[in-house]
Amino acid sequence: MAVEFVTCPNCKQRLALHSSMVVGTIVVCANPHCEARLRIIKRRPLRVEQVAVEETLNANSSPESYG
Ligand SMILES: [Zn+2]
Repeated sequence: MAVEFVTCPNCKQRLALHSSMVVGTIVVCANPHCEARLRIIKRRPLRVEQVAVEETLNANSSPESYG
């Protein structure tokens, strides 16, 4: 499966994300000192934005779908 690389906006760590991930997916930064919640906001090229933890919890209870 293909992966794409993005840079964490919080710590600049390079992250490998599966290219099958859809917009709206929440991922956690792989840097153990960062662990920022990142939402995929754009694909081709892949882009992420940092989200607040509380927002992440809401997203988990009622997941949004952007197709
Ligand atoms: Zn990070």
